[in-house]
Amino acid sequence: MESIINFSYIAASVLFIFGLKMLSSQKTAKRGNLLSAGGMLVAIVATLLKQEVIDFQWIIIGLIVGSLIGIFAARLVKMTSMPELVALFNGFGGIASLLVGWSEYHAHPESPLFTIIAILLAVIIGGVTFSGSIIAYAKLAEKIGGKPTSFKGQKVLNLLLLLGLLASGTFLGMDPADSYPLFIGILAAAVILGIFAVIPIGGADMPVVIALLNSYSGLAACAAGFVILNNVLIVAGSLVGASGLILTNIMCKAMNRSLANVLFAGVGATSSGGGDYQGEANPVSAEDAYYILEAANSVVFVPGYGMAVAQAQHVVRELAELLESNGTEVQFAIHPVAGRMPGHMNVLLAEANVSYEQLVIPEDVNPTMSTVDVTMVIGANDVVNPAARTDESSPLYGMPIIDVDQARTCIVLKRSLNPGFAGVDNPLFFREKTRMLFGDAKASISALVAEFKES
Ligand code: NDP
Repeated sequence: MESIINFSYIAASVLFIFGLKMLSSQKTAKRGNLLSAGGMLVAIVATLLKQEVIDFQWIIIGLIVGSLIGIFAARLVKMTSMPELVALFNGFGGIASLLVGWSEYHAHPESPLFTIIAILLAVIIGGVTFSGSIIAYAKLAEKIGGKPTSFKGQKVLNLLLLLGLLASGTFLGMDPADSYPLFIGILAAAVILGIFAVIPIGGADMPVVIALLNSYSGLAACAAGFVILNNVLIVAGSLVGASGLILTNIMCKAMNRSLANVLFAGVGATSSGGGDYQGEANPVSAEDAYYILEAANSVVFVPGYGMAVAQAQHVVRELAELLESNGTEVQFAIHPVAGRMPGHMNVLLAEANVSYEQLVIPEDVNPTMSTVDVTMVIGANDVVNPAARTDESSPLYGMPIIDVDQARTCIVLKRSLNPGFAGVDNPLFFREKTRMLFGDAKASISALVAEFKES
């Protein structure tokens, strides 16, 4: 039986790795997801075959309750709330690892040093992931302010907490059997550290936090795998940990910031920063926007969070098809941090069956921007803010943006002149070549589609 279980674990790990690889391309992502889910099924069935499982009752109760929550969450949560749900799921991963570590310590406080170290890692990383993810959830769901919150001595407090955790862990390792109160103290300190580590990060830096917490949840699971000596948990945890770190790196690059700067600088904490851009915006009606688009040879759509809010992706695809049949070259420029979670725009456009061949990244589209006739900014704001290029006082300064203002005409679809997630004003709205098509993005695009169909 043991060899069947281990063989199944290897098979599950191979499925995870191939599944992950397939997730890197939109063409294969759906199958990759299914493959990884299949791997998880194999891993779960193999684990249930283990001799150590002495009571199936609680497992079945957990399975039913967990599945029900999962089904309801997936069906009821609105598409725009997906990022918050993902943040919460990261937190659940963290608390699960914490509980595995705690229960093992509770049952066997006299475990060998190796197991005690694994328990401490599962509890500390799991605790930080749990509370950090809850804060990230609250920021994304706007339950608390999205801006970085810092106070005097915060970095010192975080450092003291970290040093305290290291010291207490060392003491506990020397006498694990008689250190239950110390263990509870470590657990509490880890949860507090998670809160204080995430509250000073906010605004445009949130993508990095989401990716980093995702990585932590994997590392915590990996440590939990060492606690209960479960090979597939170690492999799966390492995969999540490593891919989360790669994602963190991608997100940092997308904002041209170092990880240390994101974690410790508290950028944007004091004020909204940046210039106070005022002026006359040039509104445009759907009818006039239609004439501009109808005459364009090339159009680049730049979706952002507002497209997700409006659920405009399907009408956007319809408009793109109408433009193409009118002889216009159409592309979709996707900024890595557009929306509220990594890959947010790609998911929405894939759902609307936009061909992935039409998707372009900022590095590729920006050099050609001056030859583009029209850029259509659909509910994007921070990722097209030209102040990021020029205004050193802006919290967005240095973040590579999509240079929509370099095109011959830029049409911005949003409801008002309000700022985006980072809370920073956008000079794009007052540029000579910019036209503001005010209103809900879905309604505006539908009006454009209607104009094309009527003509
Ligand atoms: P922004 O948040 O900068 O702007 C979105 C804009 O959409 C708003 O200005 C809003 O303007 C508009 N909008 C909202 N609802 C509608 C609607 N129904 N119809 C039309 N417009 C609408 O979005 P971006 O995608 O440009 O930038 C993403 C930001 O989020 C970045 O700062 C990024 O760092 C951050 N972030 C990204 C994460 C990620 O992983 N991708 C995670 C967490 C944060 P108005 O109210 O006037 O309509």
